[in-house]
Amino acid sequence: MGAVQSYLTVNSWKAYYNEADQRLNLRLARDMARELEPSVRDSLDLKAVEHAIHYIMILNPKIEIYLLDDQGKILAFFAEPDKKVKSTHVALTPVNAFLSEGDQRLIVGDDPRNPGVKKPFSAAPLHIGPDTDGYLYVIIGSEQYDKALSSTRENYVYQTVVKSLVITVVLTAIIGLVLFGLLTGRLRSMSSVLSRFEKGDYRARLEDNHKDEIARVAQTFNRMAETIEANIEELKKTDTLRRELIANVSHDLRSPLASIRGYLETLQIKKDQLSEEEKQNYLNIILESSHSLEKLVSELFELSKLDANQIVPQMEPFLLKDLVYEVKMKLQPRAEKAEVNIEINIPDSLPQVYADVALIERVLTNLLENAIRYSPRGSTVTIDTDFDGEGLRVRVKDTGPGIEAGKLPYIFDRFYRVEGSRSGKTGGTGLGLAIAKKIMEVHKSALLVASEKGKGSTFSFRLNTFKTA
Ligand code: ADP
Repeated sequence: MGAVQSYLTVNSWKAYYNEADQRLNLRLARDMARELEPSVRDSLDLKAVEHAIHYIMILNPKIEIYLLDDQGKILAFFAEPDKKVKSTHVALTPVNAFLSEGDQRLIVGDDPRNPGVKKPFSAAPLHIGPDTDGYLYVIIGSEQYDKALSSTRENYVYQTVVKSLVITVVLTAIIGLVLFGLLTGRLRSMSSVLSRFEKGDYRARLEDNHKDEIARVAQTFNRMAETIEANIEELKKTDTLRRELIANVSHDLRSPLASIRGYLETLQIKKDQLSEEEKQNYLNIILESSHSLEKLVSELFELSKLDANQIVPQMEPFLLKDLVYEVKMKLQPRAEKAEVNIEINIPDSLPQVYADVALIERVLTNLLENAIRYSPRGSTVTIDTDFDGEGLRVRVKDTGPGIEAGKLPYIFDRFYRVEGSRSGKTGGTGLGLAIAKKIMEVHKSALLVASEKGKGSTFSFRLNTFKTA
């Protein structure tokens, strides 16, 4: 930048001086021609003009004077030292332009001493002898002047150029360093936050209130950090769940196994002392424990398949009412044992639903089993539906103990039981609702619960009808 600036400055200075010289000496040739005219009008008497010109040139060493004929041929010249004039002609185009346009912008013409070099000049028509309409051609900026100028130029111009170059370089360097300092300062503080993040401080965030690219990088990092932090939290939660699950599974497997083993050992050791009735009783307990073991294992297996998305629902149309009656039939003995009445309120006119019939049977069985299990003797469990023209909401309603509002969010968690005790008298595994919820999820639906402590619970889910599916 400094070099370009210096080049432009020097060039514009030169043009400025040349133009100023030409304007200053606009009338010079004309005035001189008027003086010389009497001496050259009749014939070119060099001796006579030389005298006059000598004085002009002493007074104004900046000029070189040429007498040209009408073709631009140099008839005479007055320049020091005269040997150095190399051209015989001067191009007349710039001369005519000068004469016709007067005080226009800078016009440069041939310098007979330096062919190829253009210089500012002044010119005027001059009659030389009776036949020649020639010109007086005055180069402004003689060689002597150029020499004087070039020595001063070295002193002033080049020094100024060098100074401005140095100032430019120094200022650019300072501004550059300050800018780099500001930029790298922000980057340094960013990198310290990033390394905190790298070392495990997932809450580390960048604070940058600017509105440039670096700030945008910072915002993107912050968003990325939010996602990573959320994912890590999720992983931690899943890990905790997994540990709890393993602990729960081992506990729930151990209890029936211990019971089976204990009663088998008793039967083996005391087989001669036990009455037939006691033996039968023990065998019944062993059978019950092995049933609950089998149930737990198969439910775990089912849940893990649902979790791994291995179960793809086989969608088909079917009548819900038929399925509900089938489930009722299946659970009727249990209901009778618990002295619970099952009531079904489903209109015959309902359209078919579109779902996996085996999976929906599982959901209905789990919900009805729970309703029967938690209902008091002599009460009624109701299954009814709501049809809104597009889908069917199925409700399983009991008048049991209900569930506290604080515990409601957890009842769908695996192994969660409101009563706490695992092998308690209600006898569930704590997996039934988790399985039902998962089945509704693979149907892109949801299992909902509404319950009030002491008044009963209603579990419900929605199924698409065949036409709208
Ligand atoms: P369980 O096999 O123990 O019934 P579930 O997953 O089916 O496991 O249910 C989780 C818990 O939700 C139950 O232990 C019970 O405390 C509560 N629960 C489920 N259904 C009902 C209901 N109809 N009335 C009251 N509590 C219920």
